[in-house]
Amino acid sequence: MFTSLSDRLTQTFRNLKRKGAVTESDLNSTIRDIRMALLDADVALPVVKEFTGRIRERGLGAEVHQALNPAQQIVKIVNEELVSILGGQTRRLNLAKNPPTVIMLAGLQGSGKTTFAGKLGRWLADQGHTPLLVAADLQRPNAVTQLEVVGERAGVKVYAPERGNIYGHDATLESGEGTRSFGDPVDVAVDGVEEARRRSHDVVIIDTAGRLAVDVDLMRQAHDIRIETSADEVLFVIDAMIGQAAVDTAKAFADGVGITGTVLSKLDGDARGGAALSVATVTGQPILFASTGEGVKDIELFHPDRMASRILD
Ligand code: GDP
Repeated sequence: MFTSLSDRLTQTFRNLKRKGAVTESDLNSTIRDIRMALLDADVALPVVKEFTGRIRERGLGAEVHQALNPAQQIVKIVNEELVSILGGQTRRLNLAKNPPTVIMLAGLQGSGKTTFAGKLGRWLADQGHTPLLVAADLQRPNAVTQLEVVGERAGVKVYAPERGNIYGHDATLESGEGTRSFGDPVDVAVDGVEEARRRSHDVVIIDTAGRLAVDVDLMRQAHDIRIETSADEVLFVIDAMIGQAAVDTAKAFADGVGITGTVLSKLDGDARGGAALSVATVTGQPILFASTGEGVKDIELFHPDRMASRILD
């Protein structure tokens, strides 16, 4: 992850540091290099523009910092602006004052929601919480079973609708009558929260349906689940490998569902990093977690400053 971007920026700064003074033309060529490196890393154009605009503005006004030479000052500015587009401060989960805390996961199919549900459940259980996973993805016939398997592997309880309601209705699913004959996902989510309250689970993690592309009906369903369960957190799970398409997807979920944060999944892959660098700016919401593998322990809190250092070191 970020290897190519990191190499390019390191080279750019090496060139800059060779110069004693930084002229306006040096600054411009540095910004040009940064812009190209970001675009090649699949960072969204509006984010690149905002980022380089800030570097130019601050670079020209160069805050005079006695301890740093001009090149170091530019590097410092780039570092600070990187932290800023990655979301600024580390943002931790909002836990409800009156449990259960309701955390809902939304995102495209294959983005890594179900896998992340297990990881988050385990992560919370390791901190002394008593999470319950709720299977509200009734879109794919085996999604419920998948969550049950994930829950078992993570050692976290799963609330699933009655099997009989889910299986044996494939024909209905294929005929396009939607999900209602399987039980309504909104009802399942609400029932799951009730079940958690009855059984004193202090956190509920709701896995919701996704499709391969942004879909109006599913957006509405996810929106309704958010409202009806009074979700405390709506985490948009995004596959870090999807590059430029990340922006439109992220915006659609932010606008259509109303998200409170993002989970970057598959950060262990060799993606160029565009989604990671674009999503906080595009959605206006921070990145909370990084999902870094298929194992149940492959979850990390996302720290914008550490990620920026990783890119610039
Ligand atoms: P969902 O459709 O959003 O629920 O996605 P899944 O959780 O089923 O994940 C889709 C695929 O991505 C599965 O093959 C997972 O094993 C894989 N996957 C999920 N998260 C990660 C991750 O962080 N890293 C890697 N390498 N693979 C992942």
